[in-house]
Amino acid sequence: MNHEVVDGIPVLWAEAPGPLEAVLMFGCGAQDETLRTLGTTHMIEHLAMSTLPRLHHDHNASVDLLTTQFTCTGRPEQVTAFLAAVCGALTALPLDRIEQEAGVLAAEDGRVADPMTGELLSHRYGAQGLGLAAFRGPGADRIPVEAVRGTVERYFHRNNAVLLLTGPPPEGLRLPLPDGERPDRSTPRPVLHTGPSWRHEDVPGPGIALRGDLDDPALLLACKVLSERLRATVRHEHGLSYDVGGDTVHAGPGRGERTVCLDAREGQEARVAELLWAGALRLAAEGPTDAELAEEVTGLRELFEDPRSVTHELGEAAGALLFGDECQDAQTRLAALAKVTPDQAREAFARALETVLLVVPCDAEVEAVLPDGRPLPAYSCATVRDLPSGAAVFRPPLSARLRSSQARRARLAVDDRGLWAREPDGGVHHVPFAEVVGVEMRGPGRVVFGRDACVIPVMPELWAGIGAAVDAVDAAVPEHLRYAASAFRPAD
Ligand SMILES: [Zn+2]
Repeated sequence: MNHEVVDGIPVLWAEAPGPLEAVLMFGCGAQDETLRTLGTTHMIEHLAMSTLPRLHHDHNASVDLLTTQFTCTGRPEQVTAFLAAVCGALTALPLDRIEQEAGVLAAEDGRVADPMTGELLSHRYGAQGLGLAAFRGPGADRIPVEAVRGTVERYFHRNNAVLLLTGPPPEGLRLPLPDGERPDRSTPRPVLHTGPSWRHEDVPGPGIALRGDLDDPALLLACKVLSERLRATVRHEHGLSYDVGGDTVHAGPGRGERTVCLDAREGQEARVAELLWAGALRLAAEGPTDAELAEEVTGLRELFEDPRSVTHELGEAAGALLFGDECQDAQTRLAALAKVTPDQAREAFARALETVLLVVPCDAEVEAVLPDGRPLPAYSCATVRDLPSGAAVFRPPLSARLRSSQARRARLAVDDRGLWAREPDGGVHHVPFAEVVGVEMRGPGRVVFGRDACVIPVMPELWAGIGAAVDAVDAAVPEHLRYAASAFRPAD
């Protein structure tokens, strides 16, 4: 791998078959947004791409949790022109096009993770950082123009970019980007839930997340063996699932999440979840066999040595540069993988299982037990026991109380510190005003989003006479966090 510098930007390149491919990568993704500004990076990407003339060579752009990437393939002069145009657009974004691009964004599925991984991340990190993967946010038409300006200034400059090329830098290559301050990536992302626990979510299938060292070859192989075993049993033997997938998510230096997720045939969600959990427990207890490890190492060797994986390897190196991680070349990684013993893989998996988060589709009832025999705790954000004394208390509308004993037990309480909502079963949700990350204004009502992903609706159809509660929310939550519900979405 070759390393050069053009206009102050690191350029990593290695020869690969086919026409020249370029990826201009910025260390800015959905994790750098807030619930209120969700979609800002995607808007920036769209605004920049909207300035390009019609091009007849391959080109694209994308935003994920960590990065924004502008990609093109073509003749050297086409690549040079594309990169210069993208840098030019990022330097002078057409902010007057925000409204049109908002419509385009609303039409596009801008998901940054599969649904199970998204929910697992929100379970781990809350409604912030990586946890934003599960949220839709206020909507593309509510992205504040100041957030677009601020994000471009903070992240889209020459000290937060890397260019990858599958050949030597072409003649005349320029990357004219402004100067800026390199973002500090040295602190790990704050974790809200260390695990282990499980929760119900509106997801198509079950999934688990394990927190650990993403560079640990033993944990990587253990997760691959688990996926392979699930493919053999859940899909091929029982025919319950189509896709056994998962993701790897970097969460700061040396730490991250590995997820293993499955979809499920309708009505079979609980069974698939049980098979996933049983497979994880068995792997933590017995470990993989020598043959299983050898099989996974063979597969990874094929992948690493495929000449088409050059772009992937360059991407890994670029990510390491942007986020300050270590990066080993493919041969070093393979050597480490080949040395992993079944016992090391078992131990790495068992240790990671202490951090497990399990997500299960809403209707599926699962009884999951930890390796030591205790039940896997169910997670609820209703962690408070009582309503505060002295708060203003609201009850559901009379018609609801007459109809349902559940409604007769529910309460909403408000004081100058925050909101409390008591569920019929007694659990109390609490969002302190200091931890509010967004307030959606829906006509006379409000929906209040807390940092730990707890959501309290302050809506007239749920609570009687809520005018005072709405006033309290509006008085306590700064204006920049309150927004009118998106015009692109039907009220729900
Ligand atoms: Zn809650």
